[in-house]
Amino acid sequence: MSRPTGSALMEKIVALSKRRGFIYPASDIYGGLNGFWDYGPLGTQLKNNLRDRWWRDMVECPPIGPDGSPLQIVGLDSSIIQNPRAWEASGHLGGFNDPMVDCRESKRRYRADHLMVYRHDKDLPWFAFMEGEGESIHKKMKKAGVNPEICTVATYLEMSADAYPRIVGPDTKVPGSLTEPRQFNLMFKTFVGATTGEDNVAYLRPETAQGIFLNYKNVLDTSRVQLPFGIAQVGKAFRNEVTPRNFIFRSREFEQMEMEFFCHPDQAEMWFEYWSQSRLAWWQAQGVSKKNLILRQHDKEELAHYAQEGAGTCDVEYRYPFSGDGYGELEGIAHRSNFDLGRHQQFSKTKLEYFDPQTRERFLPHVIEPAAGLSRGVLVLLAEAYDVDESRPSPELMRFHPHLAPLKLGIFPLTKKDGLPDIAEKLFMDLRKKYTCQFDIKQGIGKRYARMDEAGTPFCITVDHTTLEDRTVTVRYRDTGAQERIAIDHVSTFLHGHLG
Ligand code: ATP
Repeated sequence: MSRPTGSALMEKIVALSKRRGFIYPASDIYGGLNGFWDYGPLGTQLKNNLRDRWWRDMVECPPIGPDGSPLQIVGLDSSIIQNPRAWEASGHLGGFNDPMVDCRESKRRYRADHLMVYRHDKDLPWFAFMEGEGESIHKKMKKAGVNPEICTVATYLEMSADAYPRIVGPDTKVPGSLTEPRQFNLMFKTFVGATTGEDNVAYLRPETAQGIFLNYKNVLDTSRVQLPFGIAQVGKAFRNEVTPRNFIFRSREFEQMEMEFFCHPDQAEMWFEYWSQSRLAWWQAQGVSKKNLILRQHDKEELAHYAQEGAGTCDVEYRYPFSGDGYGELEGIAHRSNFDLGRHQQFSKTKLEYFDPQTRERFLPHVIEPAAGLSRGVLVLLAEAYDVDESRPSPELMRFHPHLAPLKLGIFPLTKKDGLPDIAEKLFMDLRKKYTCQFDIKQGIGKRYARMDEAGTPFCITVDHTTLEDRTVTVRYRDTGAQERIAIDHVSTFLHGHLG
């Protein structure tokens, strides 16, 4: 068996994730809950490692700017629940509350619950029509060789995602132009306090970005940042997605890593270009192969309301196992102009302008936003790492980049006798202070190596009888299975060399 692709690869990743404690369905013992996932011991560590890398490279040690000096980026941790006025200002509360379907070709929009579909079991397209208008498309169907008499009718909401490409929209002739149903207001509603009246309604944030805009003035007034500067935040976001799918790719609760970079409007295009390239390079530095990543500029019609003006939006996209020959979004880099600060200034009646002491200019900064999915990032790491090596007794292994691997080191005594466990345990007690290690004494050495391969642990150290003679241990490399002997006193230096 070689490394599978497509849906077979997805199935393997989901199965291994559950079996090895990366990711479980949420509320598993109750049959799960669609769109929610729990991270197990290995998954939590993997996710935290990715989050910590992002934080380090964004906040603690930000990139070098075009002028050769480090950028100023500070951290934030804002509330999940904010004053509901904030969501009015941001535009999240406006618009329709019903799931809507867009036609990419005719540019028309339909209420998903009013959109019906003629289905049949022939190898021909299915046809969508507006409720009560079925007859109006019979001519079109017959021309395509489909007899309406043999069809059954269902609503568009009942369609599974893989049916969308075969459906012809009400106002088009070719299949595949209808989008998935999307709710305009995807926010989860809740109530603050003991009463459940309209006055107490609040929302779980659908993005971490707005918490940053709400604190822009606080940060400016209380820290020494000057334009251009960034505010970064990692945290949960909630969207009541109409069709959660593809494992953790589209879920209803997920984590984001977002940074709002405030700059002078004249410099926005330059920073947009800078951040687009810089974010693509960052994902490559996490071990994601170049051939699976692209930067894609949004078409004008695709742009979100906040990105209509200016340099637009560019996505870092990944070739997910379910994307076929295409790609799916991993991170979006948007030029949000001064949309958010302008709206919050208007709604809160608080001045949010920036005063430049040098030019004595007063203005609303523009914003470039690199917004990445931490949960989607974990899926990318799992998909990149999964591999099959038939030459091993247990062929599945995870080739994580060593700095992201949940466990850095497995430490084993070869047998339970002759004092080997004591030596191995001492090594473990020393190294665990610096690296995530696992001490494993159960079963044969082959099984222990296989367990570590599945967990993606880059190195294993075995203490054996030769250790008693010359104080050397065996190091085994996950990726090649190669082994070599090193002095027990050099294990720490060895790891430092490989992991930093
Ligand atoms: P999509 O078009 O896939 O719905 P989006 O453009 O609405 O995504 P943004 O609002 O730009 O997403 O959010 C930034 C990042 O958050 C995305 O690039 C993605 O990685 C992540 N993200 C958004 N929605 C979800 C979701 N439902 N589940 C998991 N991650 C998500």
